Amino acid sequence: MRVVLFGPPGAGKGTQAKKIAAAYKLNHLSTGDMFRSAIKHDNEVGREAKSYIEKGRLVPDTLVCEVAREALDEIEAEQFVLDGFPRTIPQSEWLDDYLGSKRGGSLHVVNMIVDDDIIVRRLSQRRMHRETGAIYNLALNPPPADVRPEDLIQRVDDRPESIRRRLVVYHEQTAPLEDYYRKSGRLADVDALGPIEDVFARIASTLVEPASVQ
Ligand code: AMP
Repeated sequence: MRVVLFGPPGAGKGTQAKKIAAAYKLNHLSTGDMFRSAIKHDNEVGREAKSYIEKGRLVPDTLVCEVAREALDEIEAEQFVLDGFPRTIPQSEWLDDYLGSKRGGSLHVVNMIVDDDIIVRRLSQRRMHRETGAIYNLALNPPPADVRPEDLIQRVDDRPESIRRRLVVYHEQTAPLEDYYRKSGRLADVDALGPIEDVFARIASTLVEPASVQ
């Protein structure tokens, strides 16, 4: 199965992608995680991506597609859930071309719907474990008692000024993908509000029927 989770920052893509990956035995590929890891290792990709990410801007398509290609090649483009990729029309066109050159198969695109005001609230409460990368929400999904508060950090791009910029970027550059995938009959709308398990059940119900083949 090939799944793309699509939606604004803070829609819960990362949380749901991990659950989907575990339930359906899929590879979880997050371009955001790849960039954060590259920044941590201070490698070439990390150095190039850093300033865009910290400003809440999108990393240029060429670099993103390069990173995505490497990750997809490694798993032979099979059994994946993509989280945070594609994010622009050129990236989705690149992905269709890339998958078209691989073995056929359907792509399930899940559109996770959440209002902007909820996103701002959610992201400002989001914290990440500095070692494991585990994501928590201080209000909705608090860390277990054995997690030390000093190990929880706020992502630079989860600060209010960055959140606003990321939402503008989302509406300008990423939201048009909704039409791109809807037109080809591959988009399933899911209400992403509510308990994690409820949202997961809604997503799972869209993955039962095969999506139309590209
Ligand atoms: P995420 O963890 O998915 O929210 O990604 C964090 C940041 O990494 C984003 O705000 C972008 O700056 C960058 N990024 C991740 N994935 C992409 C992508 N597909 N296209 C462009 N920039 C990306």
